[in-house]
Amino acid sequence: MSEQAKPNTDTASPDTASSETGSRGTVLVTGAAGYIGSHTCIELLGNGYNVVGVDNFDNSERVVLERIAELAGRPISFVELDIRDTEALRTVVTDHSPTSVIHFAGLKAVGESVEFPEKYWSVNVGGTLSLLDAIAGSDVATFVFSSSCTVYGDPAEVPVTETTPVAPISPYGRTKLAAERAIADHLSTRDCGGFLLRYFNPVGAHSSGRIGEDPVGVPNNLMPFAMQVAVGRRESLAVFGNDYDTADGTCIRDYIHVVDLAQGHVAALQAAQKSSCDVVNLGTGRGSSVLDVVNAASEAVGTPIPYEIVDRRAGDAAVIFADTTKATELLGWQADRTMVDMCRDHWAWQSQNPNGYQ
Ligand code: NAD
Ligand code: UDP
Repeated sequence: MSEQAKPNTDTASPDTASSETGSRGTVLVTGAAGYIGSHTCIELLGNGYNVVGVDNFDNSERVVLERIAELAGRPISFVELDIRDTEALRTVVTDHSPTSVIHFAGLKAVGESVEFPEKYWSVNVGGTLSLLDAIAGSDVATFVFSSSCTVYGDPAEVPVTETTPVAPISPYGRTKLAAERAIADHLSTRDCGGFLLRYFNPVGAHSSGRIGEDPVGVPNNLMPFAMQVAVGRRESLAVFGNDYDTADGTCIRDYIHVVDLAQGHVAALQAAQKSSCDVVNLGTGRGSSVLDVVNAASEAVGTPIPYEIVDRRAGDAAVIFADTTKATELLGWQADRTMVDMCRDHWAWQSQNPNGYQ
Protein backbone atom coordinates (compact mmCIF):
# COMPACT_ATOMS: atom_id res chain seq x y z
CA MET A 1 0.00 0.00 0.00
CA SER A 2 1.40 3.42 -0.86
CA GLU A 3 1.79 5.90 2.00
CA GLN A 4 -0.71 8.15 0.28
CA ALA A 5 -3.36 5.48 0.17
CA LYS A 6 -2.73 4.13 3.67
CA PRO A 7 -5.71 4.87 5.90
CA ASN A 8 -5.16 6.12 9.46
CA THR A 9 -5.36 3.52 12.18
CA ASP A 10 -8.05 3.72 14.83
CA THR A 11 -5.51 4.83 17.37
CA ALA A 12 -3.75 7.45 15.23
CA SER A 13 -5.13 10.96 15.19
CA PRO A 14 -5.88 12.37 11.74
CA ASP A 15 -2.83 14.35 10.71
CA THR A 16 -3.65 16.03 7.43
CA ALA A 17 -5.50 19.22 6.66
CA SER A 18 -7.90 17.20 4.53
CA SER A 19 -8.87 15.07 7.51
CA GLU A 20 -10.34 18.17 9.14
CA THR A 21 -11.86 19.78 6.11
CA GLY A 22 -13.34 16.74 4.43
CA SER A 23 -11.67 17.82 1.21
CA ARG A 24 -11.76 14.29 -0.21
CA GLY A 25 -15.47 14.67 -0.87
CA THR A 26 -18.63 13.27 0.64
CA VAL A 27 -19.43 9.59 1.05
CA LEU A 28 -23.03 8.43 1.40
CA VAL A 29 -22.90 5.60 3.96
CA THR A 30 -26.04 3.48 4.27
CA GLY A 31 -26.34 1.57 7.55
CA ALA A 32 -23.96 4.14 9.09
CA ALA A 33 -25.14 3.44 12.65
CA GLY A 34 -24.50 -0.31 12.39
CA TYR A 35 -21.52 -2.33 13.57
CA ILE A 36 -19.31 -2.12 10.49
CA GLY A 37 -20.82 1.17 9.27
CA SER A 38 -19.98 3.04 12.49
CA HIS A 39 -16.35 1.89 12.46
CA THR A 40 -16.07 2.82 8.80
CA CYS A 41 -17.47 6.32 9.42
CA ILE A 42 -14.63 6.94 11.88
CA GLU A 43 -12.03 5.80 9.35
CA LEU A 44 -13.60 7.94 6.62
CA LEU A 45 -13.66 11.07 8.81
CA GLY A 46 -10.07 10.41 9.87
CA ASN A 47 -9.00 10.13 6.24
CA GLY A 48 -10.43 13.43 5.05
CA TYR A 49 -13.89 12.46 3.81
CA ASN A 50 -17.18 14.00 4.81
CA VAL A 51 -19.90 11.49 5.54
CA VAL A 52 -23.65 11.65 5.13
CA GLY A 53 -25.04 8.60 6.89
CA VAL A 54 -28.50 7.10 6.57
CA ASP A 55 -30.08 4.41 8.73
CA ASN A 56 -33.52 3.49 10.05
CA PHE A 57 -32.13 2.12 13.37
CA ASP A 58 -33.68 -1.26 12.67
CA ASN A 59 -30.59 -2.88 14.24
CA SER A 60 -28.73 0.04 15.81
CA GLU A 61 -29.01 2.89 18.29
CA ARG A 62 -28.96 6.63 17.73
CA VAL A 63 -26.32 7.17 20.45
CA VAL A 64 -23.69 5.65 18.18
CA LEU A 65 -23.76 8.87 16.14
CA GLU A 66 -22.54 10.83 19.19
CA ARG A 67 -19.80 8.30 19.79
CA ILE A 68 -18.62 8.52 16.18
CA ALA A 69 -18.29 12.31 16.60
CA GLU A 70 -16.52 11.87 19.94
CA LEU A 71 -13.97 9.42 18.49
CA ALA A 72 -13.42 11.14 15.13
CA GLY A 73 -13.38 14.70 16.47
CA ARG A 74 -16.11 15.80 14.07
CA PRO A 75 -19.61 14.57 13.29
CA ILE A 76 -21.20 12.95 10.28
CA SER A 77 -24.31 14.41 8.69
CA PHE A 78 -27.20 12.03 9.21
CA VAL A 79 -30.71 11.40 7.89
CA GLU A 80 -33.02 8.78 9.40
CA LEU A 81 -34.70 6.87 6.57
CA ASP A 82 -35.50 3.45 5.20
CA ILE A 83 -33.37 2.74 2.14
CA ARG A 84 -36.49 1.47 0.36
CA ASP A 85 -37.77 5.07 0.41
CA THR A 86 -36.22 6.14 -2.90
CA GLU A 87 -37.55 9.72 -2.76
CA ALA A 88 -36.03 10.29 0.68
CA LEU A 89 -32.70 8.89 -0.55
CA ARG A 90 -32.85 11.08 -3.66
CA THR A 91 -33.28 14.13 -1.46
CA VAL A 92 -30.17 13.15 0.51
CA VAL A 93 -28.24 12.80 -2.76
CA THR A 94 -29.47 16.21 -3.97
CA ASP A 95 -28.74 17.93 -0.65
CA HIS A 96 -25.28 16.44 -0.01
CA SER A 97 -23.89 15.70 -3.51
CA PRO A 98 -21.93 12.57 -2.52
CA THR A 99 -19.25 11.39 -4.92
CA SER A 100 -19.09 7.89 -3.39
CA VAL A 101 -21.44 5.40 -1.77
CA ILE A 102 -20.68 2.64 0.74
CA HIS A 103 -23.75 0.44 1.07
CA PHE A 104 -23.95 -1.42 4.41
CA ALA A 105 -27.67 -1.19 5.20
CA GLY A 106 -29.29 -4.60 5.23
CA LEU A 107 -30.43 -7.56 7.24
CA LYS A 108 -27.87 -10.22 8.10
CA ALA A 109 -29.29 -13.06 10.23
CA VAL A 110 -29.12 -16.32 8.28
CA GLY A 111 -31.71 -18.12 10.43
CA GLU A 112 -34.18 -15.24 10.26
CA SER A 113 -33.77 -15.15 6.49
CA VAL A 114 -34.95 -18.76 6.29
CA GLU A 115 -38.04 -17.87 8.33
CA PHE A 116 -38.83 -14.54 6.63
CA PRO A 117 -37.28 -14.64 3.14
CA GLU A 118 -39.55 -11.88 1.74
CA LYS A 119 -38.25 -9.44 4.35
CA TYR A 120 -34.67 -10.19 3.26
CA TRP A 121 -35.47 -9.80 -0.44
CA SER A 122 -37.29 -6.56 0.30
CA VAL A 123 -34.51 -4.89 2.33
CA ASN A 124 -31.37 -6.43 0.85
CA VAL A 125 -32.42 -6.48 -2.80
CA GLY A 126 -35.32 -4.00 -2.90
CA GLY A 127 -33.30 -1.57 -0.76
CA THR A 128 -30.28 -1.90 -3.07
CA LEU A 129 -32.42 -1.27 -6.19
CA SER A 130 -33.92 1.77 -4.46
CA LEU A 131 -30.42 3.11 -3.72
CA LEU A 132 -29.27 2.54 -7.30
CA ASP A 133 -32.37 4.36 -8.53
CA ALA A 134 -31.69 7.28 -6.16
CA ILE A 135 -28.08 7.78 -7.34
CA ALA A 136 -28.87 7.45 -11.06
CA GLY A 137 -27.88 10.69 -12.80
CA SER A 138 -25.94 11.92 -9.72
CA ASP A 139 -22.22 12.67 -9.31
CA VAL A 140 -21.59 9.36 -7.54
CA ALA A 141 -18.49 7.89 -9.21
CA THR A 142 -17.58 5.12 -6.75
CA PHE A 143 -19.74 2.42 -5.18
CA VAL A 144 -18.61 -0.07 -2.52
CA PHE A 145 -20.91 -2.87 -1.38
CA SER A 146 -20.95 -5.06 1.76
CA SER A 147 -21.21 -8.57 0.50
CA SER A 148 -20.40 -11.74 2.37
CA CYS A 149 -18.43 -14.98 2.09
CA THR A 150 -21.86 -16.56 2.63
CA VAL A 151 -22.25 -16.36 -1.16
CA TYR A 152 -19.70 -19.21 -1.45
CA GLY A 153 -21.87 -21.57 0.60
CA ASP A 154 -19.89 -24.62 1.68
CA PRO A 155 -16.85 -24.41 -0.62
CA ALA A 156 -15.21 -27.59 -1.89
CA GLU A 157 -11.74 -26.08 -1.55
CA VAL A 158 -10.04 -23.54 0.70
CA PRO A 159 -8.71 -20.92 0.70
CA VAL A 160 -11.59 -19.31 -1.13
CA THR A 161 -10.65 -17.12 -4.05
CA GLU A 162 -12.96 -14.71 -5.86
CA THR A 163 -13.32 -17.30 -8.64
CA THR A 164 -14.53 -20.01 -6.25
CA PRO A 165 -18.04 -20.89 -7.49
CA VAL A 166 -20.84 -19.06 -5.70
CA ALA A 167 -23.47 -21.36 -4.21
CA PRO A 168 -25.33 -19.62 -1.38
CA ILE A 169 -27.37 -21.97 0.79
CA SER A 170 -29.66 -19.48 2.56
CA PRO A 171 -32.04 -16.71 1.49
CA TYR A 172 -29.61 -14.26 3.13
CA GLY A 173 -26.75 -15.46 0.91
CA ARG A 174 -28.94 -15.40 -2.18
CA THR A 175 -30.03 -11.81 -1.49
CA LYS A 176 -26.40 -10.70 -1.11
CA LEU A 177 -25.55 -12.34 -4.44
CA ALA A 178 -28.60 -10.80 -6.15
CA ALA A 179 -27.64 -7.36 -4.80
CA GLU A 180 -24.06 -7.84 -6.07
CA ARG A 181 -25.40 -8.58 -9.56
CA ALA A 182 -27.78 -5.61 -9.55
CA ILE A 183 -24.92 -3.30 -8.56
CA ALA A 184 -22.56 -4.70 -11.19
CA ASP A 185 -25.22 -4.27 -13.89
CA HIS A 186 -25.97 -0.72 -12.72
CA LEU A 187 -22.30 0.31 -12.69
CA SER A 188 -21.82 -1.06 -16.21
CA THR A 189 -24.32 1.50 -17.51
CA ARG A 190 -22.51 4.58 -16.22
CA ASP A 191 -19.17 6.21 -15.53
CA CYS A 192 -18.92 4.72 -12.06
CA GLY A 193 -16.61 2.06 -10.60
CA GLY A 194 -16.48 0.10 -7.42
CA PHE A 195 -16.00 -3.05 -5.43
CA LEU A 196 -18.21 -5.85 -4.16
CA LEU A 197 -16.46 -6.72 -0.89
CA ARG A 198 -17.06 -10.22 0.43
CA TYR A 199 -16.35 -10.11 4.16
CA PHE A 200 -15.35 -13.13 6.17
CA ASN A 201 -16.07 -13.00 9.97
CA PRO A 202 -15.86 -9.46 11.39
CA VAL A 203 -15.17 -9.29 15.15
CA GLY A 204 -13.56 -6.87 17.59
CA ALA A 205 -14.30 -3.22 18.18
CA HIS A 206 -12.73 0.23 18.14
CA SER A 207 -9.76 0.12 20.54
CA SER A 208 -11.39 2.77 22.77
CA GLY A 209 -14.21 0.34 23.59
CA ARG A 210 -16.71 3.15 22.89
CA ILE A 211 -18.35 1.50 19.86
CA GLY A 212 -18.80 -2.15 19.04
CA GLU A 213 -21.23 -4.87 18.04
CA ASP A 214 -24.55 -4.76 19.90
CA PRO A 215 -26.71 -7.61 18.63
CA VAL A 216 -30.44 -7.48 19.35
CA GLY A 217 -31.59 -10.48 21.42
CA VAL A 218 -29.56 -13.66 21.63
CA PRO A 219 -26.38 -13.32 19.55
CA ASN A 220 -26.14 -15.67 16.57
CA ASN A 221 -22.41 -15.20 16.21
CA LEU A 222 -19.59 -16.79 18.17
CA MET A 223 -17.61 -13.80 19.48
CA PRO A 224 -20.55 -11.71 20.77
CA PHE A 225 -22.04 -14.79 22.42
CA ALA A 226 -18.72 -15.71 24.09
CA MET A 227 -18.26 -12.13 25.30
CA GLN A 228 -21.78 -11.96 26.71
CA VAL A 229 -20.99 -15.13 28.67
CA ALA A 230 -17.79 -13.49 29.91
CA VAL A 231 -19.65 -10.40 31.08
CA GLY A 232 -22.24 -12.51 32.90
CA ARG A 233 -25.23 -11.99 30.63
CA ARG A 234 -25.32 -15.68 29.62
CA GLU A 235 -24.29 -18.82 31.44
CA SER A 236 -22.33 -20.84 28.94
CA LEU A 237 -21.36 -20.89 25.28
CA ALA A 238 -22.68 -23.76 23.16
CA VAL A 239 -19.94 -24.95 20.79
CA PHE A 240 -21.71 -26.36 17.76
CA GLY A 241 -19.97 -29.68 17.14
CA ASN A 242 -16.46 -31.06 17.74
CA ASP A 243 -16.62 -33.89 15.22
CA TYR A 244 -15.61 -31.95 12.11
CA ASP A 245 -12.56 -32.99 10.12
CA THR A 246 -10.31 -30.33 11.67
CA ALA A 247 -7.44 -30.51 14.16
CA ASP A 248 -9.63 -29.98 17.25
CA GLY A 249 -12.90 -31.07 15.63
CA THR A 250 -14.50 -27.58 15.65
CA CYS A 251 -15.22 -25.41 12.61
CA ILE A 252 -12.64 -23.07 11.15
CA ARG A 253 -13.38 -19.49 10.10
CA ASP A 254 -11.43 -16.42 9.00
CA TYR A 255 -12.01 -13.80 11.73
CA ILE A 256 -11.13 -10.22 10.77
CA HIS A 257 -10.87 -7.19 13.06
CA VAL A 258 -13.66 -4.73 12.28
CA VAL A 259 -11.19 -1.82 12.16
CA ASP A 260 -9.11 -3.64 9.53
CA LEU A 261 -12.35 -4.20 7.65
CA ALA A 262 -13.30 -0.53 7.96
CA GLN A 263 -9.90 0.47 6.63
CA GLY A 264 -10.41 -1.93 3.74
CA HIS A 265 -13.38 0.23 2.71
CA VAL A 266 -11.25 3.38 2.67
CA ALA A 267 -8.67 1.53 0.59
CA ALA A 268 -11.46 0.38 -1.77
CA LEU A 269 -12.71 3.94 -2.28
CA GLN A 270 -9.21 5.09 -3.09
CA ALA A 271 -8.48 2.18 -5.45
CA ALA A 272 -11.76 2.21 -7.40
CA GLN A 273 -11.37 2.74 -11.14
CA LYS A 274 -14.06 4.13 -13.39
CA SER A 275 -16.19 1.54 -15.18
CA SER A 276 -14.83 -1.47 -13.31
CA CYS A 277 -16.61 -3.47 -10.66
CA ASP A 278 -14.48 -6.14 -8.98
CA VAL A 279 -15.31 -8.73 -6.38
CA VAL A 280 -12.75 -8.78 -3.53
CA ASN A 281 -12.53 -11.01 -0.46
CA LEU A 282 -11.82 -9.20 2.81
CA GLY A 283 -10.35 -11.62 5.34
CA THR A 284 -7.00 -12.32 6.96
CA GLY A 285 -6.23 -15.52 5.08
CA ARG A 286 -5.87 -17.30 8.44
CA GLY A 287 -8.30 -19.86 9.84
CA SER A 288 -9.12 -20.20 13.54
CA SER A 289 -11.20 -22.94 15.11
CA VAL A 290 -14.07 -22.27 17.50
CA LEU A 291 -11.91 -23.48 20.39
CA ASP A 292 -9.02 -21.23 19.26
CA VAL A 293 -11.42 -18.29 19.57
CA VAL A 294 -12.75 -19.43 22.96
CA ASN A 295 -9.19 -19.78 24.28
CA ALA A 296 -8.08 -16.38 22.91
CA ALA A 297 -11.21 -14.72 24.27
CA SER A 298 -10.64 -16.33 27.68
CA GLU A 299 -7.07 -14.96 27.69
CA ALA A 300 -8.35 -11.47 26.90
CA VAL A 301 -11.01 -11.66 29.61
CA GLY A 302 -8.57 -13.11 32.15
CA THR A 303 -10.80 -16.02 33.14
CA PRO A 304 -11.98 -19.15 31.30
CA ILE A 305 -15.22 -18.70 29.34
CA PRO A 306 -17.46 -21.66 30.20
CA TYR A 307 -18.59 -23.71 27.22
CA GLU A 308 -20.17 -27.03 26.39
CA ILE A 309 -20.01 -29.05 23.21
CA VAL A 310 -23.43 -29.53 21.63
CA ASP A 311 -24.67 -30.90 18.30
CA ARG A 312 -23.62 -29.36 15.02
CA ARG A 313 -25.60 -26.33 13.81
CA ALA A 314 -27.37 -27.06 10.54
CA GLY A 315 -25.76 -25.49 7.50
CA ASP A 316 -22.30 -24.79 8.98
CA ALA A 317 -19.37 -25.26 6.60
CA ALA A 318 -16.48 -27.11 8.28
CA VAL A 319 -13.70 -24.86 7.04
CA ILE A 320 -13.73 -21.55 5.21
CA PHE A 321 -11.07 -18.88 4.99
CA ALA A 322 -10.05 -16.33 2.40
CA ASP A 323 -7.37 -16.11 -0.22
CA THR A 324 -6.41 -12.45 0.23
CA THR A 325 -4.15 -12.06 -2.81
CA LYS A 326 -6.64 -10.01 -4.81
CA ALA A 327 -7.29 -7.60 -1.93
CA THR A 328 -3.57 -6.95 -1.59
CA GLU A 329 -3.12 -6.48 -5.34
CA LEU A 330 -6.18 -4.34 -6.09
CA LEU A 331 -6.70 -2.43 -2.85
CA GLY A 332 -3.12 -2.29 -1.57
CA TRP A 333 -4.63 -3.38 1.74
CA GLN A 334 -4.23 -6.23 4.15
CA ALA A 335 -5.60 -7.03 7.59
CA ASP A 336 -2.87 -6.51 10.20
CA ARG A 337 -4.63 -7.16 13.49
CA THR A 338 -4.32 -10.53 15.23
CA MET A 339 -6.79 -12.70 17.12
CA VAL A 340 -5.28 -11.32 20.33
CA ASP A 341 -6.11 -7.76 19.13
CA MET A 342 -9.63 -8.84 18.13
CA CYS A 343 -10.39 -10.40 21.52
CA ARG A 344 -8.79 -7.57 23.53
CA ASP A 345 -10.80 -4.90 21.69
CA HIS A 346 -14.05 -6.86 21.69
CA TRP A 347 -13.65 -7.34 25.43
CA ALA A 348 -12.89 -3.62 25.94
CA TRP A 349 -16.23 -2.83 24.27
CA GLN A 350 -18.22 -5.56 26.04
CA SER A 351 -16.79 -4.93 29.51
CA GLN A 352 -17.31 -1.15 29.28
CA ASN A 353 -20.80 -1.60 27.81
CA PRO A 354 -22.14 -4.83 29.36
CA ASN A 355 -25.61 -4.13 27.97
CA GLY A 356 -24.44 -2.67 24.68
CA TYR A 357 -25.71 0.83 23.88
CA GLN A 358 -28.59 0.58 26.43
P1 NAD B 1 -25.67 -4.11 11.39
O1 NAD B 1 -27.02 -4.70 11.51
O2 NAD B 1 -24.94 -3.74 12.62
O3 NAD B 1 -25.74 -2.81 10.46
C1 NAD B 1 -26.69 -2.68 9.41
C2 NAD B 1 -27.37 -1.34 9.58
O4 NAD B 1 -28.35 -1.20 8.54
C3 NAD B 1 -28.10 -1.21 10.92
O5 NAD B 1 -27.72 -0.01 11.56
C4 NAD B 1 -29.56 -1.20 10.54
O6 NAD B 1 -30.35 -0.41 11.41
C5 NAD B 1 -29.52 -0.64 9.13
N1 NAD B 1 -30.68 -1.02 8.32
C6 NAD B 1 -31.26 -2.23 8.22
N2 NAD B 1 -32.32 -2.17 7.38
C7 NAD B 1 -32.39 -0.90 6.94
C8 NAD B 1 -33.26 -0.21 6.07
N3 NAD B 1 -34.29 -0.84 5.47
N4 NAD B 1 -33.07 1.11 5.85
C9 NAD B 1 -32.04 1.75 6.46
N5 NAD B 1 -31.18 1.16 7.29
C10 NAD B 1 -31.35 -0.16 7.54
O7 NAD B 1 -24.80 -5.10 10.49
P2 NAD B 1 -23.25 -5.07 10.15
O8 NAD B 1 -22.61 -6.24 10.83
O9 NAD B 1 -22.68 -3.74 10.35
O10 NAD B 1 -23.33 -5.43 8.62
C11 NAD B 1 -23.31 -4.44 7.62
C12 NAD B 1 -23.38 -5.09 6.26
O11 NAD B 1 -22.30 -6.03 6.14
C13 NAD B 1 -24.67 -5.89 6.02
O12 NAD B 1 -25.10 -5.60 4.71
C14 NAD B 1 -24.24 -7.32 6.15
O13 NAD B 1 -25.00 -8.17 5.30
C15 NAD B 1 -22.79 -7.27 5.70
N6 NAD B 1 -21.99 -8.33 6.29
C16 NAD B 1 -21.90 -8.44 7.66
C17 NAD B 1 -21.16 -9.48 8.23
C18 NAD B 1 -21.09 -9.64 9.73
O14 NAD B 1 -20.80 -10.74 10.18
N7 NAD B 1 -21.29 -8.61 10.52
C19 NAD B 1 -20.50 -10.41 7.40
C20 NAD B 1 -20.59 -10.26 6.02
C21 NAD B 1 -21.35 -9.21 5.47
N1 UDP C 1 -20.55 -21.06 16.83
C1 UDP C 1 -20.65 -21.77 17.99
N2 UDP C 1 -21.48 -21.29 18.96
C2 UDP C 1 -22.20 -20.15 18.83
C3 UDP C 1 -22.08 -19.42 17.63
C4 UDP C 1 -21.25 -19.91 16.64
O1 UDP C 1 -20.02 -22.80 18.16
O2 UDP C 1 -22.96 -19.78 19.74
C5 UDP C 1 -19.66 -21.55 15.76
C6 UDP C 1 -20.36 -21.82 14.45
O3 UDP C 1 -20.83 -23.14 14.41
C7 UDP C 1 -19.25 -21.56 13.44
C8 UDP C 1 -18.39 -20.50 14.11
O4 UDP C 1 -18.71 -20.53 15.49
O5 UDP C 1 -18.48 -22.72 13.30
C9 UDP C 1 -18.65 -19.10 13.57
O6 UDP C 1 -20.06 -18.89 13.59
P1 UDP C 1 -20.68 -17.45 13.39
O7 UDP C 1 -22.16 -17.62 13.52
O8 UDP C 1 -20.01 -16.48 14.29
O9 UDP C 1 -20.27 -17.06 11.91
P2 UDP C 1 -20.57 -17.78 10.49
O10 UDP C 1 -19.25 -18.27 10.03
O11 UDP C 1 -21.56 -18.85 10.71
O12 UDP C 1 -21.09 -16.67 9.66
